[in-house]
Amino acid sequence: MEKRWSVEIWGVRGSSPVAHRDFLEYGGNTSCIFVQCDQEAVILDAGSGLLGLGDALISKGVRKVHILLSHLHMDHICGLLGFPLFLVPEAEIHLYGNTEGQLGFCESLKRLMGRPYWPLGLADFPSHVEIHEVVPGASFRLAGIEADHGVMVHTLEGNHPGGSLLYRVEQEEQSIIYGLDCEMNDAMLQALRNFSQDGSLLIWDANFTDEDLERCKGWGHSSWRQGIALGREARVKMVLMTHYSGEYTDEFMQKQQELAAREDVSCCFAREGMVIHL
Ligand SMILES: [Zn+2]
Ligand SMILES: [Zn+2]
Repeated sequence: MEKRWSVEIWGVRGSSPVAHRDFLEYGGNTSCIFVQCDQEAVILDAGSGLLGLGDALISKGVRKVHILLSHLHMDHICGLLGFPLFLVPEAEIHLYGNTEGQLGFCESLKRLMGRPYWPLGLADFPSHVEIHEVVPGASFRLAGIEADHGVMVHTLEGNHPGGSLLYRVEQEEQSIIYGLDCEMNDAMLQALRNFSQDGSLLIWDANFTDEDLERCKGWGHSSWRQGIALGREARVKMVLMTHYSGEYTDEFMQKQQELAAREDVSCCFAREGMVIHL
């Protein structure tokens, strides 16, 4: 039987949250997407959107979550500070992240969550927290799930300052490719084409317009037009744009969305509160 998945958008911004009224329609929180993969609760990045999501999970009675982190830039982890589920004793929280880098994932996280940067460290919470070091390119099953019907996760190293991990989460016919933060180039296009092949949904780094990309080379981001092109080449069913620059107001984003719709009617621009059923 085909598994039912749903995707909820809780944060759409890159770099830092924006609170001004000109950003309320698309949303001002940084990257956070919740995916209900049949029985499993998967969270893609822990930006400021994680705070609202945490409250929603508690009221729905969800106690076990898997948080896949693309990397440790602040816009992708700031929601961990104050994540309400950390305070629930019965909660089981699995954190997955890139083991590469000077300190590795676990040690980097411990240094961030604790004094002097934050009053509480990971060991201070009553919930059960497990850290999973991920080698880029590795594949794994979500922790604690029986192998025969588990959700499988594949990874790919992204092109981003300091590195990033791109994820492909799949279960039988369903698959989501999470491609933040990643700057497209020829080598990346080739790798991503294989990585995204025949996916149900590609969640894409649409941080810049093509025009702005020209002046922001090396910043580690891409454009919606590159996302559409990749989606076509990889035969992905739907492309979801997100991680918008904090300079792009609602009015500006509406225009971008109109331009994109002329090129591909099936592409979608993430807004906070949006729910997609796969
Ligand atoms: Zn980012
Ligand atoms: Zn980044």
